[in-house]
Amino acid sequence: MIDTHCHLLDESYNNDRREVIERAFAEGITKIIEISVEPSLWQNSVELCKKYSNIFCSFGIHPHDAERYTDYIHLISDEKVVAVGECGLDYHRDSFDKKIQAEIFEKQLEIAKKFNKPVIVHSREAEEDSYNILSRYKDLKGVIHCFSSTPGYAEKFLSLGFYLGIDCPVTYPKADNLKKVVKQVPIERILLETDAPYLPPQKFRGKRNEPSYIKYIAEEIAKIKNIPIDAVSEITDNNAKNLFGI
Ligand SMILES: [Zn+2]
Repeated sequence: MIDTHCHLLDESYNNDRREVIERAFAEGITKIIEISVEPSLWQNSVELCKKYSNIFCSFGIHPHDAERYTDYIHLISDEKVVAVGECGLDYHRDSFDKKIQAEIFEKQLEIAKKFNKPVIVHSREAEEDSYNILSRYKDLKGVIHCFSSTPGYAEKFLSLGFYLGIDCPVTYPKADNLKKVVKQVPIERILLETDAPYLPPQKFRGKRNEPSYIKYIAEEIAKIKNIPIDAVSEITDNNAKNLFGI
């Protein structure tokens, strides 16, 4: 299995980062994409990727940090950098200026275009605007990270050629809407992502998430789609390889 989205440099791993990474590889995770959105840690991400051949990296500025955008073009051409993002729009809290978010989102879509990289899109309660912006970038491919919207928007993003990232919330008992989305979307368009240390699976709610918990997402998808868990890992691995070239 490939964890296509986690934040290994988060400070919650400062005491046991190596154990967390080794546990993931010991439990059958073959590759990890580290999502690096904190400029002060960008250099650490580069070093992490140098240290582990199976850890890859994506650089971006999260919509909450749009106002303190810093350029990362100099980092993108490294062979371990497989994507741009996460970047996008987040309207969950109104304290962030929508216009600036859109501007910084597009700036990063331009980087993805220029370097021919897929884009990892963060879209929270902003689907219509995210869709409208992305539909102007016809050649871009990518993933809608931690998809949390309706089956209708799932269709719309699929029609743009995007994959949907499915995270641990799919294991929550009340996630009826997300389970519906998973049922409807072809497995060939789904990526597994933990978003660790955030959003732990039901079994560990309130605790820290980590890449080795990705099996709980695969298990739930297998249950919803009534297919073997091996098929879920094999096909979603292929999806990750196709999109990120890893
Ligand atoms: Zn994330």
